[in-house]
This record gives sequence, C-alpha cells and structure tokens, in this order.
Amino acid sequence: MSILVTGTAGFIGFHVAKRLLEGGEVVWGVDNCNDYYDPRLKAKRLEMLHAFEQFHFYKADIADQTTMDGLFRKIRPERVIHLAAQAGVRYSLENPHAYTTSNIAGFLHILEGCRQTGVKHLLYASSSSVYGGNKKLPFCETDPVDEPNSLYAATKKANELMAYTYSHLYGIPATGLRFFTVYGPWGRPDMALYTFTRAILAGEPVRVFNHGKMIRDFTYIDDVVEGIHRLMGRQPEPQDGKPPHGKPPHQVLNIGNHQPVELLQFLAILEQKLNKPANRHYMPIQPGDVPATFASVDALYAETGFRPQTPIEVGISRFVDWYLHYYGDAHA
Ligand code: NAD
Repeated sequence: MSILVTGTAGFIGFHVAKRLLEGGEVVWGVDNCNDYYDPRLKAKRLEMLHAFEQFHFYKADIADQTTMDGLFRKIRPERVIHLAAQAGVRYSLENPHAYTTSNIAGFLHILEGCRQTGVKHLLYASSSSVYGGNKKLPFCETDPVDEPNSLYAATKKANELMAYTYSHLYGIPATGLRFFTVYGPWGRPDMALYTFTRAILAGEPVRVFNHGKMIRDFTYIDDVVEGIHRLMGRQPEPQDGKPPHGKPPHQVLNIGNHQPVELLQFLAILEQKLNKPANRHYMPIQPGDVPATFASVDALYAETGFRPQTPIEVGISRFVDWYLHYYGDAHA
C-alpha cells in the first residue's frame, strides 16, 4: 500500500510514519520543515525516518498548488494521512495568515489531490479545540461546535466542513481526527510538557495559566498512533446510497484519553519525576484557550475496538526519559 503522510517532520507525523515503516509500508512524506519551532528537532526526526529504505521524502509546501498537484500525480497514494498544518492556539493570535495559508489553502490542495487521484481514504487532523468553551462534558462528536475560541480552531472546523463537502460531492472517504493535547517523546517544544520540563531543569519560572485550574485530556502519542493505524485500514462507507443523495462517507472521531487532568496535578507529576520543584508563576487564562477538554471515545471504540489507555504518570515519565537522553547535559 502506498501511503502519503504530510507533516512527517512534525511530532505526530514522525511517529505515524515510523510506525508504518516499521510495519513494512511504503511511506511518502511531505513537510516544508518550517521554523515554527526548532528545525533541528524536525531534521533529527527525518534523519530517523530516512533509515528506512521505503521512506521517500519531499520538502514541499502544501500551500503550493502546482507542487501538490504534481506530487499527487506522481505518488498516486492509496491512503493519505494529512497532519501538516500550522498548529498552536496562541500563535494564531499573533500570526493569523500562517493558518489560512497552510490550514485552508493547503488543505484544499490535499482534497484536490485526493479527488484527482481517487484516494481510498483520507485521514486528516482536526482538533479538540473545535469544541470551544463547550460546557457539556465529555465532548461528543455530536455536540454542536459552532463557537471556536481561536482562528486555529476555526481553521480546523473549516477543514471538517471542507472534507465533508468533498466527501459529499465526490464520494471521497474521509475521517477527521479530533486530537486532544498529544504528548510524548519527540514532542512539540511549544507545548506545556516541553516548556515546563525545560524551565524546571533550567530553574526558570514556569508560567501556569488559568492559575493551574486548566483541565486537559492529555493523550499519549502511542495511543494516537494506534488509533490512526486502526482507522487507516478501514474506510467510512456512504450511508443510504451513494452521494449526493445518501450520507457522504465522512466521519469525525475524537482521539483522546478520556482521563482529564488538572494542570496543577500534571505539574506535580512532572516535578516528582524530575525530582525538582517548579518556580511557579500563576497567570490568568490566555485569550483563545479553553478551560477544559475531555474526550468521549465511545465512537472511536465502536469503530476500532480501541481506547487510549496510557496513564499520565507513565506518559510523562517516558517523555522526561527521552528529553534527558536527547538533550543530555545541555537541557536546551
Ligand atoms: P507539528 O507542528 O509538530 O507538525 C506539523 C508539521 O507540518 C510540521 O513539521 C511543519 O513543518 C509542517 N507544516 C506546517 N505547515 C506546512 C505547509 N504549509 N506545508 C508543508 N508542511 C507544513 O504539529 P503536531 O503536533 O505534529 O500536529 C500534527 C497535526 O495535528 C496538526 O494538524 C495539528 O494541528 C493537529 N493537532 C495536534 C495536537 C497536538 O496536541 N499535538 C492537537 C490537536 C490537533
């Protein structure tokens, strides 16, 4: 099977591609290796993927229509796992254009590529952020999601609508993946676990937003990869006949841990693992942030027979072990 994974230099894309390669699949990777965070981390991830003979990589921007059309025609992938995007809620307040370029125009080029080459299943990254300030917990895929708190969330919701439309018009089987705060080895330097670890080790202040009352359904990377892996081989079927009259073969699924944790508890587990207290600076909630996330994973379980299961203590411990090994004494 030929699989295109976009965002292969990124955190989730790297892990997904590695798992596929270890299973003997042929993987075509695409990433523009932008400098949103340390490009050395991206280069290192790619170096590890290049150790596999069946890995082929294109440094390309998904926002470049001509390049993407050409790539799809050349590769003609059976499956597409689309993870390239401008991530990050807070950065979307500072740099909104990066989000429309990569997450809207870029996503359209992925959909067009799928349409033109008859891809059998498109899986694409959405986000728990589409739930906005939803008060009904846990978050279910059937909850209304009309009030995004950030432009980032709005682009992810737009992706779901765009994918639905292409699925409706052209019958493209598509699955939107609402990830919930993914963490683990090789994780993103802009995310809490990484910034907290770095600050604690350096003896620098740790900024604890929403005075530590924030609640997040932290989801371990291996569980996310397992969920994607199981979903990849399946494909949503149109219901009640083929589109445009039947329901299009499009679905949206949460991939979360269903075990939300308060930020203060998260920090305490990390302090214990590092055997060092944090220099805590309590701050108000930041614009764009939501107070709580909590995934219902019943739909994921019904579809795949799998629920994420890694306890937060185990996941944090594995991250810290990786971090200390990766940075050695430098503690970047
Ligand atoms: P990441 O930033 O580590 O990976 C994204 C990759 O996409 C990066 O390597 C980047 O260089 C690449 N990229 C960005 N714009 C591009 C473009 N225009 N062309 C080509 N490549 C481009 O982020 P991640 O944490 O691995 O996230 C993967 C996906 O999952 C993203 O769509 C993100 O929005 C979504 N997501 C992540 C989380 C999480 O907790 N990590 C939560 C919800 C959703």
